[in-house]
Amino acid sequence: MRATELYAPTLREVPAEAEVVSHQLLLRAGYIRRTATGVYTYLPLGMRVLKKIEQIVREEMDRQGGQEIMMPIIQPAELWQESGRWDVYGPELFRLKDRHERDFALGPTHEEIITALVRGEVNSYKQMPILLYQIQNKYRDERRPRFGLLRGREFIMKDLYSFDRDADGLEVSYRKMHVAYTRVFKRCGLRFRPVEADSGAIGGSDTHEFMVLADSGEAIILYCENPVCGYAANNEKASVPVGEITPDETLYPLNRAETPGCRTVEEVAQFLRISPQQIIKTILYETEREVAAALVRGDREINEIKLSNALGCLRLELAGPKTVQQVTGAAVGFAGPVGLKGCTIVADPEVMAMVNAVTGSNTNDIHCLNVNPGRDFEVNMIKDIRMVQAGEPCPHCGSKLLEAKGIEVGQIFKLGDKYSKVLGATYLDEGGKSLPIIMGCYGIGVSRTMAAAIEQNHDQNGIIWPVAIAPFQVVVIPVSAKDETQVALAEELYHRLLEAGVETVIDDRPERAGVKFKDADLIGYPLRITIGAKAVSENRVEIRPRKTGEVTLTATRDLEKTVL
Ligand code: ATP
Ligand code: MG
Ligand code: MG
Ligand code: MG
Repeated sequence: MRATELYAPTLREVPAEAEVVSHQLLLRAGYIRRTATGVYTYLPLGMRVLKKIEQIVREEMDRQGGQEIMMPIIQPAELWQESGRWDVYGPELFRLKDRHERDFALGPTHEEIITALVRGEVNSYKQMPILLYQIQNKYRDERRPRFGLLRGREFIMKDLYSFDRDADGLEVSYRKMHVAYTRVFKRCGLRFRPVEADSGAIGGSDTHEFMVLADSGEAIILYCENPVCGYAANNEKASVPVGEITPDETLYPLNRAETPGCRTVEEVAQFLRISPQQIIKTILYETEREVAAALVRGDREINEIKLSNALGCLRLELAGPKTVQQVTGAAVGFAGPVGLKGCTIVADPEVMAMVNAVTGSNTNDIHCLNVNPGRDFEVNMIKDIRMVQAGEPCPHCGSKLLEAKGIEVGQIFKLGDKYSKVLGATYLDEGGKSLPIIMGCYGIGVSRTMAAAIEQNHDQNGIIWPVAIAPFQVVVIPVSAKDETQVALAEELYHRLLEAGVETVIDDRPERAGVKFKDADLIGYPLRITIGAKAVSENRVEIRPRKTGEVTLTATRDLEKTVL
């Protein structure tokens, strides 16, 4: 590729909207451009990096027996209503209508679509295991889209779904994906760590997040200093619940990353620039989602509700099976003491409609329920969550825990029968018994990985791509664009490298060498080959790895040997 033909408009200034280094560098070096908030166009350099990451992901999925498919981005509301998530997914779901007023969503994830696909095709234990995946745009109307590709509203994800007959089968699929993810991020040249994570609202089972280690990461990881032990968890998972709340107490354990230093609801509200009422609404809203899902499923009783609100800090756990009314009451009772003194609960019309629907009443007064924690329901409210700190003993082996910051680039999840049950994906075992298919889901943020790689690998001059995901491996720079012999030699070496299969750019622009060097560092080509006077007179070229900056001289005849 010739620099004169490469569409990579670089910027001298740091764009004001870019807060983190990956966002700044991707814009400055001409990899991406913003189209709307959280929505980006990938320019040729960006596209090349994406393709590299995608190809590594694809090869590792295939190696474990994954088969690539492509599902639609536009998803009919009916399937989401069937699973119960149409009502519970909340404002993160992009919704749209067709000309006949039928509802659709832009896929944030594909459990519904794939479960519906498989339920029509798989009906015997003999057909499993199955691993299906796709690499595609995903849509999430994030509360705070920011940091460029790290948190977009349109982003690229690889999502794989596994289908097995039982928990043992799922365990095998899950391990395969653990291996595949480890290989993917290793091949991408990244320093990373798989950590145990909280399964949160999905409930129950195993889940691991893959974290790229970077100081700018939003996630805090705790890991054991003893590598033989291997314990590693995100701080949410590692946190320890402390005590139980009494109705007149205020809670406030906080997720440090989201609300650093806040100890009360009012402080949290202030920090997030929302009203305390909005926090309460969030609690009610989350409950509403759970209750609505139960109603859609036709459940009479709810066994478990894990209320982790948007702040990731408030928890409500039911002591045992409860009716829909009791759960609603619990939420209101829960919101009461939380929300505290001196602030009126303004009922959200949506919440009230739901409360009225389940209680059969018709009122706008949230207190009509007259619920009383302890009398009408049992709730186990955790008073505080103690964040475990570095230096504390490892819960597995007692050695010291260390802390690091990370960016979540992937997550693997045991779903069990969560979707197969509600969507009716069953199979017949050897004895002819009908059982739900046991599922797992596994995501990698392809576009986020691109940004995470930069967060981890950069300096003040620009990006330092790991070779495997660099847009090009080599840039050839003639020092003087006016010196015909230098240009001729540069052209010759450029063609030799192309011939040898090395992805190479020749900077043939009529610019000063200094400008070209600056751009080469900014863009982050792993190797720079400089053709100056010495190259012509002594037949030796300068080779400079972007990472070390240490220049070595190589005889031009040995060029391919040195580069490859
Ligand atoms: P986060 O905690 O950062 O919101 P998530 O846990 O909601 O991410 P998953 O549902 O686990 O994300 O999706 C799988 C992967 O997709 C994530 O590990 C991440 O790499 C990527 N991803 C999720 N949301 C975004 C986003 N808004 N922009 C870019 N990548 C994303
Ligand atoms: Mg998310
Ligand atoms: Mg997450
Ligand atoms: Mg996740």
